[in-house]
Amino acid sequence: MTLELVSAEIELTNSCTCETYDEETDTATHSEYCYGDCFTEQRAYLAEAIDAHLAAIGLLDADAIRIDCDAIGWQRRAGYAIVESTADGILDALAINGDYTLNFWFGDNYTRCHATRYSHDEPTGSGLFTFSAASTDETELSA
Ligand SMILES: [Zn+2]
Repeated sequence: MTLELVSAEIELTNSCTCETYDEETDTATHSEYCYGDCFTEQRAYLAEAIDAHLAAIGLLDADAIRIDCDAIGWQRRAGYAIVESTADGILDALAINGDYTLNFWFGDNYTRCHATRYSHDEPTGSGLFTFSAASTDETELSA
């Protein structure tokens, strides 16, 4: 029997999440010093889940994927992007200059996925980023 994933939330933030462990008090506190791998490790973990989603919907390494969002930035404008159908393509498209946090939600054994971004201009969160197959025309645009 395979265990089915009902839903999962994975967060990625580009501010440092390194912790220092204090053996005497048995507590971990935010580190003054960044060991440098905190973002890379979180991103790699999230990328695996995104790949699982792309595989579940048959778009892993497809030519392109379409990202839609109905509210981006302080003006909360709608937008979309056509990017390479990989975790890197998606994560690079959602990255912005400055601090941000991405909150990804996966459901129904990775067949469903959406994401919200929190940043200086999106203090209460962007709209939902959704992912779908790009049409042939859109795929040509991205080439
Ligand atoms: Zn760090």
